[in-house]
Amino acid sequence: QSQELSQVRIDYHAALQALQQHGTRMVCTGKMHTDRVCRFDYLCYSTEAEEFVFFHSNASVMLPNLGPRRFQPALLDLSSVEDHNTQYFNFLELPAAALKFMPKPVFVPDVALILNRFNPDNLMHVFHDDLLPIFYTMGQYSDLDEEARLVFMEGWSEGPHFQLYRLLSSKQPLLKEQLRNFGKLLCFTKSYVGLSKMTTWYQYGFVQPQGPKANILVSGNEIRQFSSFLAEKLNVTVGEQTEKTDEYIVVFSRSLNRLILNEAELILALAQEFQMKVVTVSLEEQSFADIVRVLSRASMLVSMHGAQLVTSLFLPRGAAVVELYPYAINPEHYAPYRTLTSLPGMDLQYVAWRNTKEENSVTFPERAWDQGGIAHLEKEEQERIMKSKEVPRHLCCRNPEWLFRIYQDTKVDIASLLDALHQGLASRPGPKRARPASTVHPGRVREPKCQTSVQATNEAKLTVSWQIPWNLKYLKVREVKYEVWIQEQGENTYMPYILPHQNYTFSENIKPFTTYLVWVRCIFNKTLLGPFADVLMCRT
Ligand code: UDP
Repeated sequence: QSQELSQVRIDYHAALQALQQHGTRMVCTGKMHTDRVCRFDYLCYSTEAEEFVFFHSNASVMLPNLGPRRFQPALLDLSSVEDHNTQYFNFLELPAAALKFMPKPVFVPDVALILNRFNPDNLMHVFHDDLLPIFYTMGQYSDLDEEARLVFMEGWSEGPHFQLYRLLSSKQPLLKEQLRNFGKLLCFTKSYVGLSKMTTWYQYGFVQPQGPKANILVSGNEIRQFSSFLAEKLNVTVGEQTEKTDEYIVVFSRSLNRLILNEAELILALAQEFQMKVVTVSLEEQSFADIVRVLSRASMLVSMHGAQLVTSLFLPRGAAVVELYPYAINPEHYAPYRTLTSLPGMDLQYVAWRNTKEENSVTFPERAWDQGGIAHLEKEEQERIMKSKEVPRHLCCRNPEWLFRIYQDTKVDIASLLDALHQGLASRPGPKRARPASTVHPGRVREPKCQTSVQATNEAKLTVSWQIPWNLKYLKVREVKYEVWIQEQGENTYMPYILPHQNYTFSENIKPFTTYLVWVRCIFNKTLLGPFADVLMCRT
């Protein structure tokens, strides 16, 4: 393995001298530990102490220089999960002079991205917490390119989805346990530490019950560019639109737990209802590339709630996701996949179905606690859980009632599922040929002006006019409207108007000898709002 590190040859003597003379240099982005990513020259790692080391010298730089606030609670989050206390990053400090007494450092020549994977066993976590954030953190820094070295510090072994992480760069990712093979003191010539959280859409319920993040910053466009990248790396060609007769539905089944007990009946019913073929896939039976290949042309994906549903991000625009929830689980409370499919520009339909018939559910009270067993609980608590008709909202991650219910097997009531589909599907699902809707926003309206006149002691007019936004002349926009807000100076309410033309004369509610504040903005296709022009002060 040490051979692998030396693929990029560096001048050992020069590197050692640079480290001794310059020490470590760190410059970070972000105001808080939760939005920080740091770039380092010569960040070192002691495999004995299992600590990162910052070497101080006359030329070292530490920005932000937080002093002891660096430990309140940490310099940054090493995973993309916000402020999780098992995922903090910090370093020890030493004077560069101490290097004389330390083991000879081994230099990592590649530009490294150092991070924690959050839960590499679980496909949803792999995509949401790791792959997407890594992909777009690499996109943020031009030296994190194809040749970058990913370094996973969470301490797990490769895990079942390691092949997916390998697609992000041409170099084999390094695991924490492997670092000691290289030596006692490892120094990363150039590295970035931490992950961008810009692409995450869900919080798992560590401090408040799980749900969509409060301020989602990613759209379907970025998700789809990432899926295309991955599909290409997996050698999946996402070809042209299939013929109508080639349309099919995918049932993504789990073969170990949370089973659909009447899968054959479900498949038959779906085939009949939509007049489409139905195929099943599972992580246990197909390679991931094969699953992506199937999903990328599917019209509909049907599956029990579970991590495998994150593969919705490989569905074509226009497809539908049908998420099945076991008895006593409220779909509204567990919506990572609904949130994903509903991101603007994902262009997926979404339907949730919930088993409301207790007799169609099979429970497993005797299983291990992490598979939903409840035999370890007090008798009374077991009985309460058995009787409960809905799991109340709760925090992550070990709520026994939640685990008990989510790991039930379900016989899907076909009539009620078809009902949910009729109600929930706006149109026949299927790959859409249509181009995605435009997301170009209007610029400011130009040269806003007002003219006023007083008609009588209680009558006045206010004419507002403006020019079209500069970018409009280059665009084909279906509908262009303008919004005008008029506020009497000193009042705290305003009157909003939607107008089709570039000028308008207001006379209702306009008083003489009064000052009005007027804002104007342009709106494309009802929803694409532009910025307001500078406020106009109009005195009648
Ligand atoms: N898994 C699977 N088949 C099964 C059970 C689990 O493929 O029968 C996968 C699942 O998609 C996830 C991982 O194993 O990637 C862990 O599953 P778990 O039930 O712990 O998580 P969940 O799906 O509820 O997020």
